[in-house]
Amino acid sequence: MAKKTIRDLDVLGKTVLIRVDFNVPMKDGVITDDNRIVQALPTIKLALEKGAKLVLFSHLGRVKTEEDKSSKSLAVVAKSLSEKLGQEVKFVPYTRGIELEEAVKALKEKEVLMFENTRFEDVDGKKESKNDSELGKYWASLGDVFVNDAFGTAHRAHASNAGIAANVDEVAAGLLLEKEIKFIGGAVDNPERPFVAILGGAKVGDKIGVIKNLLKKADKILIGGGMSYTFYKAMGLEIGTSICEDDKVELATELLKEANGKIELAVDIKVTKDFSNDGVIKVVDFDKIPSDEMGLDIGPKTLEKYTEILKTAKTVVWNGPVGVFEFSNFAQGTIGVCEALANLENVTTIIGGGDSAAAAIQLGFAEKFTHISTGGGASLEYLEGKALPGVEIVDEV
Ligand code: ADP
Ligand code: MG
Repeated sequence: MAKKTIRDLDVLGKTVLIRVDFNVPMKDGVITDDNRIVQALPTIKLALEKGAKLVLFSHLGRVKTEEDKSSKSLAVVAKSLSEKLGQEVKFVPYTRGIELEEAVKALKEKEVLMFENTRFEDVDGKKESKNDSELGKYWASLGDVFVNDAFGTAHRAHASNAGIAANVDEVAAGLLLEKEIKFIGGAVDNPERPFVAILGGAKVGDKIGVIKNLLKKADKILIGGGMSYTFYKAMGLEIGTSICEDDKVELATELLKEANGKIELAVDIKVTKDFSNDGVIKVVDFDKIPSDEMGLDIGPKTLEKYTEILKTAKTVVWNGPVGVFEFSNFAQGTIGVCEALANLENVTTIIGGGDSAAAAIQLGFAEKFTHISTGGGASLEYLEGKALPGVEIVDEV
């Protein structure tokens, strides 16, 4: 089952609607990280090369009231995009209406238009987020074909993806969405084995679906991070003041049983008294956590053990930092995992997860991975084995 992509489309002279993910972080009206704009460029450039008339749109943050609108305008993004493309990007500060329609009609081949934040439509009845059928139909009426390249919202059925798709003849994936499908979808559906997953992060509760699905798919699951302690508690061990979800202990017991040895937990742990970077730090065995201390990172023996296991892998998916990497004294585990993955050759290495992706990028390993997903929530749901609406809407070839 292959999905149709923008490569398969004949778009010469056609008006192409592209749902991009320009949901960039902003502070005081300035874009603080333009990665999502950069990631959208290949699709935009290809469509332009092919002679399309481009209409781009995206959401930006959440828009609940009229007052939210001033800080959530995509105008600055249009400007940034224009600089990156080296050509004019006509920005229409509306999400509908005659001005938008005429501007779209006036587009010539290889010209780009962007319209305002799709979630401006949420102020009056959540039309975008609730996939109002009239809105999807209206946006669809502006163009000839639809390309979805917004992986970040692929786990949601909104008017700007599913709504439009229901009202056009042809739906293709953009190059970024294609990449996400190929790597995350590929790892989950048909991984080259051995397939090893590294799961960390703060809570088991957030990752139950991922653990359950990957228990079926992966050959090994290496656990680190805050979620470890719920498992240790399930094993009847002392976890001190480490983060733990008491209501998930029973579930952790079941998962361990189900895992049948597939799950690996840390063998040593970095502990300290308070949730702080500045206290006294000790490395202890996993079954010797002092009752008044908390575990904030995996220890060196664990890193060595996990590194050896990773060396046997052909596919690795990583979701969730293995320690509180925001504290420099507890970042070694996460750095070590990055290094171990960076040193693998001929292995597909994938990061799915907002914080793990941020960690790898922040620690300088961005280029070392085969794929770093651009969607936190979407990659999590994809790893859970769920069908993503934004992927489902794309035509098969
Ligand atoms: P992702 O976004 O990659 O899916 P999560 O959101 O699940 O990851 O978790 C990231 C957070 O988990 C980080 O902020 C990190 O500090 C935290 N974390 C990792 N290990 C621990 C720990 N031992 N105790 C408390 N928090 C932890
Ligand atoms: Mg997160």
